Amino acid sequence: MKEDYYELLGVSRQATQDELKKAYRKMAVKFHPDKNPGNKEAEEKFKKVSEAYEVLKDEQKRAAYDRYGHAAFSGGGGGGASAGGPFHDPFDIFSEVFGGGGGGGAGGSIFEEFFGGGGGRGGSGRGGAQRGSDLRYDLEVELEDAAKGVEREISFRKPVTCSHCNGKGAEPGSSVVTCPTCAGHGQVTASKGFFSIRQTCSTCNGSGKKVEKSCTSCGGEGRVNETTKIKVKVPAGVDTGSKLRSASNGEAGTGGGPTGDLYIVIHVADHDIFERREENLFCQIPIKFTLASLGGTIEVPTLSGKASLKIPPGTQSGTTFRLKGKGMPSLRGGYYGDQMIRVEIEVPTSLSSEQRQKLEEFALACGDADEPVGKSFFNKAKKFFD
Ligand SMILES: [Zn+2]
Ligand SMILES: [Zn+2]
Repeated sequence: MKEDYYELLGVSRQATQDELKKAYRKMAVKFHPDKNPGNKEAEEKFKKVSEAYEVLKDEQKRAAYDRYGHAAFSGGGGGGASAGGPFHDPFDIFSEVFGGGGGGGAGGSIFEEFFGGGGGRGGSGRGGAQRGSDLRYDLEVELEDAAKGVEREISFRKPVTCSHCNGKGAEPGSSVVTCPTCAGHGQVTASKGFFSIRQTCSTCNGSGKKVEKSCTSCGGEGRVNETTKIKVKVPAGVDTGSKLRSASNGEAGTGGGPTGDLYIVIHVADHDIFERREENLFCQIPIKFTLASLGGTIEVPTLSGKASLKIPPGTQSGTTFRLKGKGMPSLRGGYYGDQMIRVEIEVPTSLSSEQRQKLEEFALACGDADEPVGKSFFNKAKKFFD
């Protein structure tokens, strides 16, 4: 038994389109596969709510559903109202609801987060026009660059529209004729036993047209491989795994289809001193045991230069100090993380005879000669010795 579409979205049967959209958006965010990797249940739920929204957002389909229930779309018996064909890829609906469409008409260097980008995926309309594929580029940046933001030029090879034929695939001056295989229909019917199947014509790729003489530059492909250079603005705060979208810098489309997008995946290189956790930076700094004991000020490295750190007298090994705001900036802006400094107390490994004598005097003054282990520890351990 299929679940009720209204119940799936948690809205009443009188819900307005606005309420439907809001309810769906909430569900989609919660159950989106990107947010629940490997969670089959969430994926199922995501598909179900997407299917429900796909039907209810369409007034005609909704009316049919209200009247006949799921039978309206089962293709069998009931009513036969707008069976509507298979549902779209739910991800398309997703980007539609989030207003990703249109994919940066300005083109070029506007970068967005992965989420909600995309816009018209696929778009394989009539006439063989096909959107170019999206591309991925892995970019490594230093931690310092990730902190400040950086502009980098990257180059890579990709199919671009052939300039000799303007992507048409025909040698300039040669004429375009109707495809002889499909007589211009773009589709051919093949018989297989009792069935006849309509297929896209392989001669013209569904365009219904054929060129008399193929372009001498691209061989009729309409695209050629070329090395492309683009400037990438890496915003401050990126981390390993951050994805930047560069609209219309993917593969050129075919048959007049739009260009795909380029996705730049960031990898932040390991740093000699700092280890990053979210927006905070961690480092370890060795200090002399005399400084730990007497207290003082030391200079410590930060991403923005040197800073001074006060070590209070009696500091124990492993103590962590926090430098507020000296961490990484948040990618969304507005705040900086902290830098955490853990001090490790260095014990001298070789002593001159003078140093040794002074230390022995010091030990005597502390009474350490009789009691090599700290007093409070000794008191705690005492009951084990008795
Ligand atoms: Zn060409
Ligand atoms: Zn054809």
